[in-house]
Amino acid sequence: MTTRLSIQLRVKIGTLILLLTILQFRGFSQIKNYEIFALKFATLNFKLPVAAAAVGSTSNDSTEICYMVYLIKEKNGKNILVDAGFTEPLQTYPMQAFTFVRPDSVLKRININPTDITDIIVTHPHWDHIDGIDLFPNAMIWMQKEDFNYFVGTAWQKGENPENNFNKNDVPKVIRKNLDGKLTLIKGDSIEIMPNIRVFIGSKHTFESQYVVVGSGADKVIIASDNSWLYYNLTSLLSIPVTLDQKAYLNNLKRMRGMVKDIDFIIPGHDPLVFTKFSKVAPGIVRIK
Ligand SMILES: [Zn+2]
Repeated sequence: MTTRLSIQLRVKIGTLILLLTILQFRGFSQIKNYEIFALKFATLNFKLPVAAAAVGSTSNDSTEICYMVYLIKEKNGKNILVDAGFTEPLQTYPMQAFTFVRPDSVLKRININPTDITDIIVTHPHWDHIDGIDLFPNAMIWMQKEDFNYFVGTAWQKGENPENNFNKNDVPKVIRKNLDGKLTLIKGDSIEIMPNIRVFIGSKHTFESQYVVVGSGADKVIIASDNSWLYYNLTSLLSIPVTLDQKAYLNNLKRMRGMVKDIDFIIPGHDPLVFTKFSKVAPGIVRIK
């Protein structure tokens, strides 16, 4: 009897240890070292037809469009921004088109000062994602090498078409960062640039746009930025119009979907739904993890 009891007890303990191991893997992976926030700093003052954001859509709906930066906050460590937002729009966009608060002012709502930002991973050099880099004087900028090379060089050659989304004023800013030793160029796909922070390329939104994956195993957050404008692009598997290669864009939507169990954890670049899916910690700020 005693022996049988002790066997049962041992089985129970064994099961408990196994359960704890599984839980540790699923719920408490290395992502626990980071808190991840989405911060809205601008909204378009008119709605966009969903069909204009998703090629081939038959939807009659319209959606608000918002502009975000994302903060990956390492406990007792780095404060990493994904994208830097803008301080001024491209000439073709009047400032009156936006309800706008400078991204550094939004960060202050959660007690982050501009000098606290240690790194900025720029997903691509469109004006609404890169223009704000000078707001954060201490930050190391991380860009894909091919995206940088194109942005500061080929984009401005005859026959190229940069004026829709690149701001000339942003070129000297990023060149200055390079001269000051504040730019790291990343070359390639699935590169772990910091512990449990990995960048991926693939959507061809710009010459070599990238996105950021935080965490590992089942516990991941994908900061897609413009590698998906809306959740709608992900659920309908429809490309945005602004890409050099719609097939590559679509393939990458599929790839991102394959990386996570819950599509909510693929954070798109311009979707106000982000601010309804996660818990609010300050005006215009939600905590994703
Ligand atoms: Zn963009």
